[in-house]
Amino acid sequence: MSRVPIMAGNWKMNLGPTDAAVLARAIVQETGQVTTVEQILCPPFVSLPAVNDAVRGSALRVGAQNAHAEPGGAFTGEVSAPMLTGLADYVILGHSERRQFCHETDGEVNAKLHAVLEAGLVPIVCVGESLAENQADQTRAVVTRQVQGALANVTGADAGRLVIAYEPVWAIGSGLAATPEVAEEVCGEIIRILLADLYDGTVAETTRILYGGSTSPGNIVSYMESPDIDGALIGGSALKSDTYTAMVRLTAGG
Ligand code: PEP
Repeated sequence: MSRVPIMAGNWKMNLGPTDAAVLARAIVQETGQVTTVEQILCPPFVSLPAVNDAVRGSALRVGAQNAHAEPGGAFTGEVSAPMLTGLADYVILGHSERRQFCHETDGEVNAKLHAVLEAGLVPIVCVGESLAENQADQTRAVVTRQVQGALANVTGADAGRLVIAYEPVWAIGSGLAATPEVAEEVCGEIIRILLADLYDGTVAETTRILYGGSTSPGNIVSYMESPDIDGALIGGSALKSDTYTAMVRLTAGG
């Protein structure tokens, strides 16, 4: 089964509307016509309209970095999934920074995931173990718990729509990327097999599973050569047009 690879750039809390539009336009100029790799730019909420304007007419897609579980109401400072309709096709959920700094639980990630699916958007669900958990040999247990928690009460039809990103916390922004062998083992032998157990072989084969954590033009090919890694969720290297588009081109094979 061939899965279209994804290069998703998580811009985090960087780039307001003006700077975001500049970066998005630069990327469109370089790889805006590449269709063999799904390119997703995930700016902060306030920059979603500017990035949408910048990528219009190109192959690039837009994602948000979070969404609230409720459709609306008294939740000061929050943005709901239905509000993102027309501004984003994808929503990153459960990023380790939100789990760490906003104390998001597996239950909250699950509630948000249902809201995002309900709004017709595609969740990019992040899972991954901390350094301490890694050193305690807890990777399988943590990743299994996070995937099962995120997918609670999600049907096979919906599960087949989503994207999962394996992002070991210790590899994010550290320059210490997981080896392709370790990333492949988690994406393939833990996450994909878990999807087959929870659902069926079709869901396991169609779900795109990304690796994230200090990816760059220098290492992206080694991940993309791994059979169960279908792309990358990219932080630092997504904030510059030359590094991001180099990764897209290397993934596209040209
Ligand atoms: C991330 O924040 O999701 C990430 C993978 O960051 P970086 O690529 O900078 O490690």
